[in-house]
Amino acid sequence: MEKIKVSEDTYLVGIGVSPGISVGEICLLDQRPMINQSLIEPAEVDAELVRFQQAVDRAREQLEKIKQAVSKQQHLREHLYILDTHLLILEDEMLVDGTKKAIRGQMNAEGALSQVLKQLRALFDKIDDEYLRERHSDVDAVGERLLRILTGVGERSIGKNGQKSLVVAHDLSPAETMQMDRSKILGFMTDKGGRTSHTAILARSLNIPAVVGLESITSMVSEGMSVIIDGSNGVVILKPSEETLKEYLQRKKNYEHLELELENYYGLPSVTIDQIYIPLRGNLEIASDIEQAKKYAAEGIGLYRTEFLYLGRSEPPDEEEQFKAYCKILQQAEGELVTIRTLDIGGDKFVPELNLADEANPAMGLRAIRFSLHEGHLFRIQLRAILRASSCGRVRILFPMISGVAEIRACKQILSEIQSELDREGVAYDSGLAIGIMIETPSAVMIAPLLAQEVDFFSIGTNDLIQYFLAVDRGNEHVAYLYDPLHPAILRALKATCDAANSAGIEVCICGEMAGESLYTLVLVGLGLHELSMNPACVPRVKRVLRQISKQDGELLVDKLLSLSTSKEVSIMIENEMRNRLPDIFAQPLI
Ligand code: PEP
Ligand code: MG
Repeated sequence: MEKIKVSEDTYLVGIGVSPGISVGEICLLDQRPMINQSLIEPAEVDAELVRFQQAVDRAREQLEKIKQAVSKQQHLREHLYILDTHLLILEDEMLVDGTKKAIRGQMNAEGALSQVLKQLRALFDKIDDEYLRERHSDVDAVGERLLRILTGVGERSIGKNGQKSLVVAHDLSPAETMQMDRSKILGFMTDKGGRTSHTAILARSLNIPAVVGLESITSMVSEGMSVIIDGSNGVVILKPSEETLKEYLQRKKNYEHLELELENYYGLPSVTIDQIYIPLRGNLEIASDIEQAKKYAAEGIGLYRTEFLYLGRSEPPDEEEQFKAYCKILQQAEGELVTIRTLDIGGDKFVPELNLADEANPAMGLRAIRFSLHEGHLFRIQLRAILRASSCGRVRILFPMISGVAEIRACKQILSEIQSELDREGVAYDSGLAIGIMIETPSAVMIAPLLAQEVDFFSIGTNDLIQYFLAVDRGNEHVAYLYDPLHPAILRALKATCDAANSAGIEVCICGEMAGESLYTLVLVGLGLHELSMNPACVPRVKRVLRQISKQDGELLVDKLLSLSTSKEVSIMIENEMRNRLPDIFAQPLI
């Protein structure tokens, strides 16, 4: 492949999926198998079929071997499912039978396989859901393994040259990522990948900085080239100049210092200086995030997005499977509270297996609670599983996207029917289980005092609340400049919701991304929120701020903010206030 010429200080921007900064030399893993696609004689077909089958068997052996090695490593054991997925793909009809069919059509094995892989890729590209679309990387990884065996290009070895390096690859298969000797890897950079790719998930659990989706880094770098990776900001700098190197080494020092310093906060209570206790909880995207939540000492789970259980499978999980999954989380939570949100699909969270209707406006369509009430049987299965799990630990239940009182009453009615059913069956559950709703639609804000009479707690979902309040699609980059948590309308919406909850004497929490932004902690406390739930890695930073502010000061700041007319004014006032109060944290960005 022709390399693109790189000059000093070439900045590349990708998706930062695992934070931290590393500086070092590149280890390039770009030895890709060369495919020679050719036609064969009818007499050669049988031999080619055998060659392909042998490659499949060899790939299975390799994966089994990696599985054995990985199962001995405690920190990687939970990712064994990735290897099982690969083993399953090796049995996939479309892949294996499709290739054999093409061989029978007189094509050589590697040609037949790469043709089938291309067709599969085209199918995956049509999938709307980002998570599922990225699963094609598993099929690609298995395909590449087979192609390497067929073409005789050996397995890629990573971190075996004895030197610590920054790995650059077109894509890294999960199996490869797992085999790496972590002590020799300083970071990952890939052309491909997205936020939910396995490389991203694994990099986070290995605590190694990673930037993915760089598109063409493999065509720009060579073995041994110097590089800086900044996983926090999604930036990669090739051939850094002396000056840049100096700057980033300082940033790296600051980052590591901050990380170390933040560890001091892990065991400290999350209280303000005026002794208001504000639990900082973790958001769970996938079950393994519970480990992160525990690492960063999040106090229980403020939002467990159960959608993940339904993704990437042909049938929705049954009651028993859900019951077990919830109980497992509860056991891992060791007595801490876990907030289980019922299925929130539709909108940007598409689950094709559930045959959602093709809608012109999915964000405003049959989404979240609307879908659950429409598909009552699925809803009942999930509620039964949650109720049963409530006997394994401290659970509360959260209904997403409630837009009116009738909806929450319908949920409560179904819940009480299921409780009676369980009573009749003599099945144990927590009869005092708290019920809450997400406040994420404008109508819910407007009738918050009415809704507060119906439930035990509110959880404000600012990700959607901002989308619906400001009429800005949360996933549309063209209107991203309008997506603004500090818009005066949003501040008023938050204030109205908190006031309604506080007057009714119920809990009010926030679980949108805004909760994890430490610059906003004083404002959120001043608004009267009782709990903040966030990406677990944000907990220590938010706690550090929380312990140095008072609720009273927050209330004074909120009063002033509510008199301002534009988000620009709001953000300047917040930044000034935080810089003056906590100069060591906010005077200059540390990284
Ligand atoms: C939200 O909308 O703020 C929220 C937390 O839920 P999700 O991001 O899953 O829609
Ligand atoms: Mg939401």
